[in-house]
Amino acid sequence: MFLLEPAETQFDLKFWLFRTHVRVHPMFWAVSALLGEYFLKVSLGAFFSWIVCCFVSVVIHELGHVLSGRLFGSQGHIVLYSFGGLAIGSSDLARRWQRIIVYLAGPAAQLIVWVLVIAFEWYCFPLFARNLSPEALKFVIVLIVQLKFINLYWPILNLMPIWPLDGGRVSREVLDWLLPRNGISISLGISFSLRRCSRQIPSMPSINTSRSFRTCPREVGGALYSSACSRCRTTRSCSKFTKTIVGTTSTGITMSGAD
Ligand SMILES: [Zn+2]
Repeated sequence: MFLLEPAETQFDLKFWLFRTHVRVHPMFWAVSALLGEYFLKVSLGAFFSWIVCCFVSVVIHELGHVLSGRLFGSQGHIVLYSFGGLAIGSSDLARRWQRIIVYLAGPAAQLIVWVLVIAFEWYCFPLFARNLSPEALKFVIVLIVQLKFINLYWPILNLMPIWPLDGGRVSREVLDWLLPRNGISISLGISFSLRRCSRQIPSMPSINTSRSFRTCPREVGGALYSSACSRCRTTRSCSKFTKTIVGTTSTGITMSGAD
């Protein structure tokens, strides 16, 4: 996302990453904690992992903007503020197509993370899940759910043609190019209409994790499966299953213990 830079405070966290200066405003932690309040009902670990997942995911999003902008010659820096980040200066480019690539690079970086997390869940997690304690198993499952949620919904939200989100900037560039006379007005009209519609959408979509993860007792490595084991075809009826259920409520995740 690209907005005006908030003023520095004495509580800012500052560091360098890939030759990019990153500043984290205290409001980022506060809003992340507020949004992850529900995870306090799961565990303290789930609450803190939510905040860490927000931090890592948003930094990756903004790095997508800054590093793609650097390819074209811009020098950007990152500020994390509220529930989002700012890639200041990364889109200061003369060519329209370069700016569009920079706008899209943030959501694209997160969608790549989303794919990697799914690949980890399907191919790596089953290899060591059997050796984890029930508590560790729950923690990793919650971590996977949080990373998938943030790195899917955040880029989708950002790609909506609403100003000043990334999608709003892309639609403005494209419409201004196609309709030089009134493209910007049309893009702002679309943005305004969608903003009105978005008031009907819940701010925090429910996390659909209504699936049973079970450890297959017949396979070396103890794979986790959401339906039947893909190799031995063991099903729910097998009493030997170690089952951990991650259920769903309208507001978030509920978890039952392993049985
Ligand atoms: Zn962005």
